[in-house]
Amino acid sequence: MAERVIVLGGGIIGLSCAFEALRLGYDVTVIEPEAFGGQASGAAAGMLAPFTENPEQPDPFFRLCLESLKLYPSWLADIEAASGCRADLLQTGSLTVALHEADLLPLQTRLAWQRPFGSGAELVEGERLRRMEPQLAANALAAVYTPRESHVYAPALVAALEKACRKLGARLVDHAGGIQAPDLFSTKGIRIETSACGSHDGDRLVVCSGAWAGHYAASFGFPIPVHPIRGQICSFDVSFGEVRHMVFSSQAYWVGKRNGTLVCGASEDVAGFDRTVTERGIDRLVRWGPRVLPFLDGREPIDRWAGLRPATRDGWPLIGPIPGREDVILAAGHYRNGILLSPATGALVGRMLAGKAQSDEARCFAPDRFAALHSRRGR
Ligand SMILES: Cc1cc2nc3c(=O)[nH]c(=O)nc-3n(C[C@H](O)[C@H](O)[C@H](O)COP(=O)(O)OP(=O)(O)OC[C@H]3O[C@@H](n4cnc5c(N)ncnc54)[C@H](O)[C@@H]3O)c2cc1C
Repeated sequence: MAERVIVLGGGIIGLSCAFEALRLGYDVTVIEPEAFGGQASGAAAGMLAPFTENPEQPDPFFRLCLESLKLYPSWLADIEAASGCRADLLQTGSLTVALHEADLLPLQTRLAWQRPFGSGAELVEGERLRRMEPQLAANALAAVYTPRESHVYAPALVAALEKACRKLGARLVDHAGGIQAPDLFSTKGIRIETSACGSHDGDRLVVCSGAWAGHYAASFGFPIPVHPIRGQICSFDVSFGEVRHMVFSSQAYWVGKRNGTLVCGASEDVAGFDRTVTERGIDRLVRWGPRVLPFLDGREPIDRWAGLRPATRDGWPLIGPIPGREDVILAAGHYRNGILLSPATGALVGRMLAGKAQSDEARCFAPDRFAALHSRRGR
């Protein structure tokens, strides 16, 4: 009989880990307290932008993002083939716009160190920039064009992943209500009790509960410093192709979707687990828009929503077995890049489930790295 893997959390990370486990032949159950993709994953802008998101240095996090981008096309093709659904990958490239002289130096620095990593990026200005993105403000000095960056429609990707997992035989338990943290110290194997959908037994556990990962700290016996950072985001009704690239500026970004919406994000505010959309959060995005894309002047968003990014203390995700229990794996804390990092996270968790050796690089994301820090400081 195949080993039974229970995945807790039905966001993109949980579903990606489930998809990988199914492909490796495990018997998989995914348990979600509410609706699949109903939290951060369904709220995301869907950008796959490792170069723009990592302007500082080529650290292990940047390399993980890059690896994930490389995996995306074939991973997505497998999901689309298994599900019969499209996730709307658009290979638009991105433009990071400089409106002031002071913005140029950091962009040039970024260009220089990222080139050896295959960014293919270049600085574009003047007439060429206007031709590439006709709606851009006339006072935009220059932009870094990064052709390898792309985006997906995140709600469609989550729906496709859910369907692919179902087709591959997963038990998908949504609206499970409260999930009791398992008592790992007094039981053998894994038993998960839920308030609305009974109990579920497994041999291995993968915890992918996003911003709620800290819920399991006491039961797992080590600190899990993941906290929610609210992202407020909105969309405008435009024509498809009116904004051709993903456009980034210092205060906001814009992503044109195939359905004719232009998604504009996103705030970063600390509001606990509150997902309310505030006037202040959205107003800032609406006011900033015409400075970069003047055609947005006077336009009101047609939709506005918010999600809770799972943030960690060092900005890197927690991916790996918990101390002393190889059968319990944590995959959470993907902060601003969970959509991008899904294929790489699924692949890492798959290797861990299969008992394969982890690389030194992968160990940088060990979930207990903060606990280790605490005890070193305590000595
Ligand atoms: C506005 C916004 C824009 C973003 N844009 C991008 C982008 O362009 N590109 C990108 O790569 N990333 C983006 N992100 C980040 C990305 O959305 C997240 O990193 C990613 O969705 C995290 O996935 P997750 O599955 O860990 O979390 P979630 O999607 O939040 O899923 C976690 C799940 O766990 C469930 N849960 C809650 N409590 C428990 C419990 N006790 N036990 C088990 N499960 C539980 C929740 O109901 C939820 O469904 C954006 C985020 C936001 C908010």
